[in-house]
Amino acid sequence: MSIQENLNHVWENIEQSAAKSGRTKEDITLIAVTKTISMNRILEATKLGIKDIGENRPQEIQEKIDFIPENIHLHMIGQLQTNKVKYIIGGCSLIHSLDRLSLLREIDKRGKSMDKKIHTLIQINHTTDENRGGIPLSGLEDFLGCLSEYPNVFVDGLMCVASLTEDETKLRTEFSSMRKALEDLKKYETDNFRPTILSMGMSHDYKIAIEEGATHVRIGSAIFGDRTRR
Ligand SMILES: *Cc1c(COP(=O)(O)O)cnc(C)c1O
Repeated sequence: MSIQENLNHVWENIEQSAAKSGRTKEDITLIAVTKTISMNRILEATKLGIKDIGENRPQEIQEKIDFIPENIHLHMIGQLQTNKVKYIIGGCSLIHSLDRLSLLREIDKRGKSMDKKIHTLIQINHTTDENRGGIPLSGLEDFLGCLSEYPNVFVDGLMCVASLTEDETKLRTEFSSMRKALEDLKKYETDNFRPTILSMGMSHDYKIAIEEGATHVRIGSAIFGDRTRR
């Protein structure tokens, strides 16, 4: 299947799932996940209408950044080491993987030096596997309590990678708990916290995620095909 055919299919699904949650496809941001994908194929996707792309490795972002058209938003969706922040921060419009205090501090420091507010999402981990990155929902309020000390970081919402499972009920529970958390947080709005974005849903679960309230989906293989290992 060509990128064009895949995209048409994905857009159709997004429209249908958005309708099921009382929304339209304009309410959903499709982030094409381009990790391991060549620049040629990325540009093919942007010519077909993709405006947001997601990468997960700082080094790959550095290699690609000069070739990405100016009007395309680049999203950092992978785990971020503190010492890599400086390499990617200028080129990314949203960092989805804010998950610890040391990273909050570093992003704020780099934002300050550029005199910019850096847009981020807090990554939530629904599992007990700490290697997956993200904080548990139960730790969210404490984390947000520190935010006011870091005025160059702006938090726009939450992100998660759902459990790897075919169990639709489990997926719905995880996604709907994200949505509920986002709603509950609206009462804590501040100058650098305005929760509007829910980044959740990948190739195998984006339809369910949208039905449960996702505003941003991150889709790779359903657009570009299986990633070749390298
Ligand atoms: C790779 C990746 C995706 C996309 O995965 P697909 O299954 O190819 O759609 C989404 N989110 C994150 C954080 C990823 O690393």
